[in-house]
Amino acid sequence: MSRQISSLLAIAAVCVTLAPAPAFAQASKKEPVDCSQVKCLALTFDDGPGQYAGTLLDTLKKYDAKATFFLEGQYAKSRPQFVKRMAAEGHELGNHSYKHPDFTKSSEATIKDEIQKTQDAVKAAAGVEPKLLRPPYGMTDVRVSEIAEQFDMPQILWTAGSKDWSLKNVDAIQKQTLAVAEPNGIILMHDWVKQTVDGMPALIKTLQNKGYHLVTVSDVIKDEKLEPGDAFPLPEGWEQ
Ligand SMILES: [Zn+2]
Repeated sequence: MSRQISSLLAIAAVCVTLAPAPAFAQASKKEPVDCSQVKCLALTFDDGPGQYAGTLLDTLKKYDAKATFFLEGQYAKSRPQFVKRMAAEGHELGNHSYKHPDFTKSSEATIKDEIQKTQDAVKAAAGVEPKLLRPPYGMTDVRVSEIAEQFDMPQILWTAGSKDWSLKNVDAIQKQTLAVAEPNGIILMHDWVKQTVDGMPALIKTLQNKGYHLVTVSDVIKDEKLEPGDAFPLPEGWEQ
């Protein structure tokens, strides 16, 4: 929180992820992407693992794309095989609460419980704990930020939305996403929206043809030097 003078208003925010770097890179492994040198974009998928996560993971693997999944603990618990696969295939895992309450309207005890139970569910499934928090609905405030700080996690919001949850149309989701894609952007999507997953091969091909490297949130925020509790991008109305 040190970089921010927080507003008392509850403000919409978003989420992120990390790709583990192997201690000993194999000769066949590619060099890590440097997002200060090349065009990067972070696709983020909230509320999952959703029922179409397996298909999405197949597509990401086929096109050598990485993503960040802001998981709900309740689904990490019920679909642990997807969580395990996400981590194994180099995607980043973030915490998106256990049951998706609005944290700005929840008690401190509830918020802490929602975050901790999700950390535990993800760790049980994949052996790793999320290092990024995306509060449900992107809603955060001073109190939520202080709790995020206690959990040692920055709050990751988004630079733009695919609007997939309301569009529910392959072509419209692609058009919207391409319209808002920008270097080092963080795009909000959902792996429970069938049309998002159905349209992902074409969307990824188009983004890659435009020169984008699809990477994790941690890749695109690397130079932001975020501290625990910080929100990024800074919600409207918050001061630097
Ligand atoms: Zn959500």
